[in-house]
Amino acid sequence: MRWIFHKGKKLGLTIPDEEYKKMISVITSSVYLAFSVCLTEGWLMAHRIVPDQHNAYIERGRFIDSISFGRGRHQIKMGFSKIDIVEKGRVPIIVEVKASGKSLKSGIHQVKYLLYVFFRETGVVAVGQVRIPSEKKRYTLRLTQDIINEVETNLKYYFRVVQGPMPEPQYRHICDVCGYVDLCFPE
Ligand code: SF4
Repeated sequence: MRWIFHKGKKLGLTIPDEEYKKMISVITSSVYLAFSVCLTEGWLMAHRIVPDQHNAYIERGRFIDSISFGRGRHQIKMGFSKIDIVEKGRVPIIVEVKASGKSLKSGIHQVKYLLYVFFRETGVVAVGQVRIPSEKKRYTLRLTQDIINEVETNLKYYFRVVQGPMPEPQYRHICDVCGYVDLCFPE
């Protein structure tokens, strides 16, 4: 365990630096999110297989993202992911925008990853926020040891899955809105 001190707080990391760099070059923010939805989707994305870009849900996500930030938005590249940051006082806020409350759980999952990567890259404990503009809702969280443990456990697991064969697609209702549906279930 490597300990990092931040404003009197002690946080521990179990993944060594070299391994962490290797993992996040494959398990980017989008891949991490995809894995939480479906192992096949995560595997396909990690192998750089591009989903159907004309998929209505992917287009909607791009549109919501493009209209959801004011002038305070800073997009930075960190690790192999882009992170949206807005500043409030001296504490950076990492923001993830979702279309509806149905995506709150996946938004929190992704923000935890971003908080972890931000901490590893800068040593700063930031605040994370999932914003749902359509419902005027915000969910705020801050990096904790539990979140670090959760993200590191997931990173190790997802990285192992990527090294193996593609997990067999299992049809569920979410497949109907997935950009890989034609690949998983060809007619
Ligand atoms: S179509 Fe279904 S099984 Fe295939 S990647 Fe998408 S969600 Fe997973």
